[in-house]
Amino acid sequence: SFIFHLNLRKPAPLRCASSLMMESPKPILDFEKFDDGFVQKLVYDALVWSSLHGLVVGDKTHQRSGTVPGVGMMHAPIALLPTPFPESYWNQACEVAPVFNELVDRISLDGKFIQDSLSRTKKADVFTSRLLEIHSKMLERNKREDIRLGLHRSDYMLDEETKSLLQIEMNTISCSFPGFGRLVTELHQSLLRSHGDHLGLDSERVPRNGSTFQFADAMAKAWLEYNNPRAVVMVVVQPDERNMYDQHWLSSNTHNIVTIRKSLAEVETEGRVHEDGTLTVGGQAVSVVYYRSGYTPRDYPSESEWNARLLIEQSSAVKCPSIAYHLAGTKKIQQELAKPGVLERFMDNKDDVAKLRKCFAGLWSLDDSEIIKKAIEKPELFVMKPQREGGGNNIYGDDVRENLLRLQREGEEENAAYILMQRIFPKVSNVFLLRDGVYHKDQAISELGVYGAYLRNKERVIINEQSGYLMRTKVSSSDEGGVAAGYAVLDSIYLN
Ligand code: ADP
Ligand code: MG
Ligand code: MG
Repeated sequence: SFIFHLNLRKPAPLRCASSLMMESPKPILDFEKFDDGFVQKLVYDALVWSSLHGLVVGDKTHQRSGTVPGVGMMHAPIALLPTPFPESYWNQACEVAPVFNELVDRISLDGKFIQDSLSRTKKADVFTSRLLEIHSKMLERNKREDIRLGLHRSDYMLDEETKSLLQIEMNTISCSFPGFGRLVTELHQSLLRSHGDHLGLDSERVPRNGSTFQFADAMAKAWLEYNNPRAVVMVVVQPDERNMYDQHWLSSNTHNIVTIRKSLAEVETEGRVHEDGTLTVGGQAVSVVYYRSGYTPRDYPSESEWNARLLIEQSSAVKCPSIAYHLAGTKKIQQELAKPGVLERFMDNKDDVAKLRKCFAGLWSLDDSEIIKKAIEKPELFVMKPQREGGGNNIYGDDVRENLLRLQREGEEENAAYILMQRIFPKVSNVFLLRDGVYHKDQAISELGVYGAYLRNKERVIINEQSGYLMRTKVSSSDEGGVAAGYAVLDSIYLN
């Protein structure tokens, strides 16, 4: 089952006679019975392991922790133990990863579909409209991206009601924690190797996770395809980034290819696109641009950042993502894809279409008056989403009703800024969340992210694979699930 109901191989030491008498012959691992001393021992081991293995983030109480590596480090927020997850759903999520990769690639080649799908959103949302403007400039110039690199993460929740694995969203830009996915898995495996007998858990049931190396390899192979031995990989970063170590984990595994880190503002001042399409930044040729910024309006505080984004897009560098890949990952496109017949436009293989559709939740535009009526009546069954990334932007519960009523009063146009989605209700279980060196026991729900890497050069598909995973676990009373945003912790899975 999804909750911790796992048989103990060796019962935990009992503290008093009465509990001995209460004990059933086949004891079950119950978080209520966990004694604090044992949990503290696990916590201590987890903290040591995280510190020694670079599972760390910048400490927000330290002023320079987002700019100077090695200064003000703190262990990443983590679940102390992996969260049980049924093996069949795990297999399903892995199997569909390359199909989603291919879908994104196909969509990216259909400029008209992207522009048409987002044409009404454009009028209601300035940020999306700026992205579309760059996309349409590239279409006018007939700009071709021969080498295409996608580093994606498709997120799922297991819906308790329907017993199905449903996709929350597909991320095509700046997917977080490919560096830490592997690490948190290895931390849990290590804890289970030391304490598994006591816990009744087997470290072999935590699936191997190659996220760091698979993403880093894909970047290195994109660099090879570009075929300029002097060129560097450029990570586009936010000026103050406390999650820098997750990013450094990738950069330090790209087989000694030189990596530079630049903010969009720096790209604007130091960047140039030469006649042959080469992008140089600070005089260095750039072959691969990996965005860990540029996904939220906050990353574009002035025109400089937009200029930089356009400059990069015009160049021949491999962009991860290109503007078309970026837009293919918007919530509006996700909703369009869920309409009847749309997937078939991009995928010929019926089995692939069925696999994708199986994990689509209910998705609607706000033109659908039937659904609006239903959502006003039962707002708790819906999530209202704007075209934003990075967590903390969605609308839940009574706010859904209020916002829908407001939009009805204020007229049609702003409707197009949002989509409505069926609310997914995953099973709630007891977990130990570890933050700032302290553990808390809480009721939590989890979201499984499966990474996918895709690389092709013209007709040649070089990589299309599932590339590791990340579980994120959050207290069930919180609606949102961002780790960096402070709502969730990093986690791995225990197959059952
Ligand atoms: P973002 O791009 O900002 O991460 P998401 O669509 O992933 O946007 O939504 C953020 C969080 O909100 C998710 O991680 C999840 O916790 C919650 N959420 C999103 N969609 C749903 C849904 N349909 N049902 C339940 N929770 C959801
Ligand atoms: Mg997202
Ligand atoms: Mg998300």
